[in-house]
Amino acid sequence: MNTHLLDTLAAEKDAFFPKPPSTLRLQPVSHFRLTMDDAGTAWITFDMQGSAANVWNESTLREFDLCLEAVHRNKAAKALVIRSGKDKIFIAGADLKALRSAPVRQVETLIELGQGVFNRLANLPLPKIALIHGACLGGGLELTLACDARIASDAEVTRLGLPETQIGLIPAWGGSTRLPRLLGLPAALEMIVSGKQVKSSAAKRLGLVDKIVPRELLEKAASEMLAAGMPERETPLSHGFWKLPGIRTALAHRVRSQVMEKTRGLYHAPLRAIEVATEAAVLPLAKSLELERHAILDLALTSETEHLIDLFFRKEEASKKPFPRGIALHVHDVAVIGAGVMGAGIAHWISSRGHHVLMQDVNVDALARGMHRVHDLLTEGLKRRAISRHDLNDTMDRLKPEHKPVPLGHYPIVIEAATEDMALKKKIFADLAARSGPDTILATNTSALSITELAETLPHPERVIGLHFFNPVHRMPLVEVITTAHTSDDVIATAVAFVQKLGKVPVVVKDSPGFVVNRILMPYLMEAVRLYESGIPAETIDEAMLEFGMPMGPMRLLDEIGLDVAVHVGATLCAAFPERLATSPLLERLVAEGKLGKKTGQGFYKHDAGGRKKSPAVHDQAIVEHAQHRLALLLANEAARCAKEGLTRDAADIDLAMILGTGYPPFRGGPLTWLHDLGEDNASVELRMLQHSTPEPNSFEPSSIPQV
Ligand code: NAD
Repeated sequence: MNTHLLDTLAAEKDAFFPKPPSTLRLQPVSHFRLTMDDAGTAWITFDMQGSAANVWNESTLREFDLCLEAVHRNKAAKALVIRSGKDKIFIAGADLKALRSAPVRQVETLIELGQGVFNRLANLPLPKIALIHGACLGGGLELTLACDARIASDAEVTRLGLPETQIGLIPAWGGSTRLPRLLGLPAALEMIVSGKQVKSSAAKRLGLVDKIVPRELLEKAASEMLAAGMPERETPLSHGFWKLPGIRTALAHRVRSQVMEKTRGLYHAPLRAIEVATEAAVLPLAKSLELERHAILDLALTSETEHLIDLFFRKEEASKKPFPRGIALHVHDVAVIGAGVMGAGIAHWISSRGHHVLMQDVNVDALARGMHRVHDLLTEGLKRRAISRHDLNDTMDRLKPEHKPVPLGHYPIVIEAATEDMALKKKIFADLAARSGPDTILATNTSALSITELAETLPHPERVIGLHFFNPVHRMPLVEVITTAHTSDDVIATAVAFVQKLGKVPVVVKDSPGFVVNRILMPYLMEAVRLYESGIPAETIDEAMLEFGMPMGPMRLLDEIGLDVAVHVGATLCAAFPERLATSPLLERLVAEGKLGKKTGQGFYKHDAGGRKKSPAVHDQAIVEHAQHRLALLLANEAARCAKEGLTRDAADIDLAMILGTGYPPFRGGPLTWLHDLGEDNASVELRMLQHSTPEPNSFEPSSIPQV
């Protein structure tokens, strides 16, 4: 039988938790429950009041500290087990809202408090076990590292990780110190630097958890472990080998080179984390905790970290917040029209998220290729251990290929992803309207065609919407939800909720040429072609934007997209904005010559079997800077224009769409934030100079910059 530990504390109880006036019935601690069983095991259950998640802030840390103090003072307590009262979350980490707006002194206090509390936990002279079910991230994992053992549930929702470097910070509540001691330096560096979250099975392989059991058996497993005696474990760093500075330096150097290759040193947190964890591995605990504190205080107040934390919140909000108007209907089965690159990609994703999907194509061979593509994607997932054989079979079972025009009456949503051609799409939509039910939402995945024009050919234009998935669908998190003046609020609300349920991030965009992402990207790509025509090598142009932090340079991106597709999307935009955009004769000539980019082996680069030709190592830095200056400003100026035209509900959505849809460098906060940081006056002067020095038509005329 469990008794309240507080009841067993007798005299001590009043000292720590003064009795509340009986009329108020206040709990001494509101976010934790503290009990003790007959075997003398104290159980602390973290169940944050008024929140779906458990997070660490000053109040929860202080309350947890009080609980530890109570356990410490109770002579009857022989062991401590810590668990969560939430359904899907152990502890999600630190309360980032509190951290983001806090002045430096407050950040310092919070870091010191967390380190102090977890040290107290580590020093409690009794066995301590963490029972992990659900997300165990950042400060949540750091808490468990201060315990002697970790038992995790085998549930899908159980994930462990230290994602701090992803938001510009390092683990500084002992994580950078204790993880290398538990896992050894190589595995700890990998986990801290990548910020990756692992399932319990991978955590067990790493040595991060001691045991995995079904959720219902967590408590039993803890009691059995305590009865059998705590597991002995070897401390990887006790090996003299790691004391040799040369060994640690060589490892740090290797990991640093990998990070530099990936990030070009633009992100400071992973580099700092390598330094701290490598040092921490051999320093006395107090010294290494001091290193953690210094590092996080240096990082916390940079604009890089602010932007990354803001992005985290924006993404969270877009992923979860319902559309403010209309009623979202439940989407069960989905029909996808077209089994090409996008149709198969969309069908794969939707089916793998548990929906039944009908994939239809007029061409039987295309349908077969589409089914193979889905199977290949699943097999890849299986190889990476992202899914099980069971998941693969289930996903394939939910997917039904069809080449005949079957009735679609019971489908709440149909997504058209057929060949990009307005006349064809109008025909397909007329047929879909006849075959579907009275409430079926008709969505198109078009890249650039007018959804308004398409909708207006139908008897119910209010049911037509754009769902613009990006290629490759399984990797790209963004979906532009494109609305026309006719689209009903219920249809928008349903589409937003559906995209969120798919685990993608919806950004609601008004129908206009190129929507948001292609609208901003195309002038930038066309300017890159203009620079190329002026004699700057493709590699140098790409280098300029890689140095800026883009994941891929514009010339290589053109080759990847396909020059024919670029010409097609470019034509839509040039027709819409002839005063500042013109079609590119060079692009048109390359397309006419059959040089379409990667898919034909030749575009701006030669793509042979051995892969893309390596860039020359040396670039003229002045030219790199010149190209970067023009391209970054032009892209941001177009983003400002879109914001001014009110294409999204909120200007910040444009930043989010560009980061998620094109890989615009997250640490810059998005093109509008970047322009803002540059200063409106500075940006305007620079743009004006470029406008006057560039042949007409050009897109450099400065737009005003909206607040983000
Ligand atoms: P694709 O050429 O690979 O596939 C198009 C498929 O549509 C073909 O299999 C074709 O047989 C089929 N089709 C043609 N007429 C049909 C009909 N009447 N009924 C059913 N199926 C029909 O093209 P894709 O790259 O998958 O592009 C599809 C759509 O997605 C286009 O509108 C495109 O603009 C858009 N899009 C493409 C990308 C991309 O990167 N490929 C990205 C975003 C959006």
